[in-house]
Amino acid sequence: MARYTGPVCRLCRREGEKLFLKGSRCLTPKCSVERRTYPPGQHGKENQFRRGRASDYLRQLREKQKARRIYGVMERQFSRYFERASRQKGLTGYNLLAILEQRLDNVVYRMGLAESRPQARQLVQHGHVLLNGRKTNIPSALVSADDVVAVRPESMRRTYFKDLRQNFDDRRVPRWLVVDAGNLSGRVLHAPAREDIDISLNEQLIVEYYSR
Ligand code: SF4
Repeated sequence: MARYTGPVCRLCRREGEKLFLKGSRCLTPKCSVERRTYPPGQHGKENQFRRGRASDYLRQLREKQKARRIYGVMERQFSRYFERASRQKGLTGYNLLAILEQRLDNVVYRMGLAESRPQARQLVQHGHVLLNGRKTNIPSALVSADDVVAVRPESMRRTYFKDLRQNFDDRRVPRWLVVDAGNLSGRVLHAPAREDIDISLNEQLIVEYYSR
């Protein structure tokens, strides 16, 4: 599956806000959004002052792009998620966010096994993660209630996971997951509710984008 391989801080600068794609660096003054408050590109600085009121289409597009970038999903897969969400019962916007949250790479991040979603994706792709006891290297695999996500026992010998186990902080773990810090494993209790998804996204704008 293709993925964006360019400079990630550029994505945050394009959206004009922190998307937290680089882990601890995002919380330091080195963050590009703090150092350069204008959009990327040759004319980014000039365009910053030329912008008038954003059209409805632009706001919808930017919200969709922001969601894609936060979760690291390419265009085609994102529109497939939207189709799936619109076929489900209930609010399409919420369904879409719930699907994105239940991606394996996001669950690894939410469990606190990685500092960022891109790092979580790499851990999955490198085979460090078991889903229900089976090695799974597909970051887009979707989890459901009662699924168990764990670090592979062989990988626990790695310095990264040893350090993580010693300094594990479960304060970030959302209530739809439960984590066993000693074994670096977790279980999905249920699908996330909207209030469990602490991301500043207006999912209704994304629904409007695809409903044009
Ligand atoms: Fe975004 Fe983090 Fe880079 Fe800041 S440091 S621009 S939040 S990826």
